[in-house]
Amino acid sequence: MLIKSFKARKIKDSRGEETIEVSVNGCKASSPSGKSKGKYETPSYYKSLEWNISAINKLEIPFSIKSFEDLSKIEKLIEKKFKNKDAKKFGANALFALESAILKSIAKSEKKELWQIINPKVRRLKIPIPIGNVVGGGVHSYSENKPVFQEFLLIPKGKGIRENVNIMQLIHKKLKKILKGEKLNDEGAWEASSDEEKILEKLKKFKNKINIGVDIAASTFYRKKGYEYNDKTLSPDEQIDYINEIIKKYGLLYIEDPLQEEDFSGFSKINKSSQHLIIGDDLTVTHIERIKKALKFRAINALIIKPNQNGSLMELKKIFDFCRKNRIKTIISHRSGETMDDALADYAVGFQADFIKCGIATKWRFVKLKRLIDIEKRLI
Ligand code: PEP
Ligand code: MG
Repeated sequence: MLIKSFKARKIKDSRGEETIEVSVNGCKASSPSGKSKGKYETPSYYKSLEWNISAINKLEIPFSIKSFEDLSKIEKLIEKKFKNKDAKKFGANALFALESAILKSIAKSEKKELWQIINPKVRRLKIPIPIGNVVGGGVHSYSENKPVFQEFLLIPKGKGIRENVNIMQLIHKKLKKILKGEKLNDEGAWEASSDEEKILEKLKKFKNKINIGVDIAASTFYRKKGYEYNDKTLSPDEQIDYINEIIKKYGLLYIEDPLQEEDFSGFSKINKSSQHLIIGDDLTVTHIERIKKALKFRAINALIIKPNQNGSLMELKKIFDFCRKNRIKTIISHRSGETMDDALADYAVGFQADFIKCGIATKWRFVKLKRLIDIEKRLI
C-alpha cells in the first residue's frame, strides 16, 4: 500500500483536553491521555503537541508499507529524520496515533479488520474479559471524603463479551442508588463520599456475578511519612499487611499498584497465590525494561498495557510475547482522557490480551465495548 498523505491535527479528549489525531490516506486514529501518570512514563510528545503535528505533516510521501512488521520502516524513518536512536523519543502519543492510523489504512486497502492486520496468524480468536470502573476516588474524584483508592472495578463472570457488558452495566446502574451517586467522574465511574472498605462491602453483594478489583494507584497518596489515608498513615510494611488483609476480607481478584512505583521488592511481599492478580501499572509504565525488572523481583503476575504509554506497536507486540512466555496475565487499558477511537478493542483481540480495562459508562468507553461485541458477533 502506498501512503499518499499524512495529516495530523489537535482534537479534544473526553476531559476536553487537547490530544493528537493522525490521518493516513483518510483513515483516522487518535491517542488518549492519562492523568495518574507514572513517573517513568515515556513523554507524550517530543517538544510539544504542536511540534509533533508539524513533524508528522512534513513526513515524506509516497511511502510504501504492507504489513504490521513494516512499521519498523516508519520507526527507522523517524529515528533517522529526528536523529534519535529510539523512535519512542518522538513522543509516545504521537507515535501511537501515527502507527495506528497506518495500520487502519492497510486494513482498509486490504478489506480486512484492524485486528487481522495486527495479527494475521491468529486462528482461534480470544475475546478479552472486560474490566469496568464503577466507583472512582483518588486523583479521578472531586468529591469530599473521597476514597484514596483510585478505581473500584468489576470483573464480570459471564460467558462472552455481550453478557459481561450487560452484567457491568446493570451493577453500575444499581450502584447509583446504593451509593446515592449523583456525579460520574472522568472515567464514567460514580463519585463517592465514602471510605475504601465501605465501598468494597457494597460491591461484595454482587459477588455471584462479578469478581472485585481495585486500582489502588498507591503512588498518588504516598508521601514521606508513608501511605496517607483519610484517617490514618501507614508505613510501607503496614501498607503491605493492610493490602494482604483486604485481599482476604473482600476476596479481591485484581489488585493494581498496591504500593508506590519504586517499591519492586514490596510488591513481591503482597500475597500472591494464583487466585489473585497483582498488577503493575505505574510500576511498569508499559516499558519493557521495567517489566523485566518486575519479573526479576517476582513483583507482579499481571500487567497493565497502555498502547499510548509506549507508542511503538512493534514494542507492544514484544511486551505481549514476553508476558505470554513468562505467564504474566495481560490487561490492555484505556486512559482516563479518552477519544472516540475504538481501536483499543482491535489491539486487545489482535494481541490476544487476557483482559481489557476500558470502563463501563459514557460514549468514549462504550465504543470500545461495542466494537468487541461486534467482533464477537462475527466469530459466532
Ligand atoms: C490508571 O491508572 O489505570 C489509569 C487509567 O489512569 P490514567 O489514564 O489517568 O493514567
Ligand atoms: Mg492504574
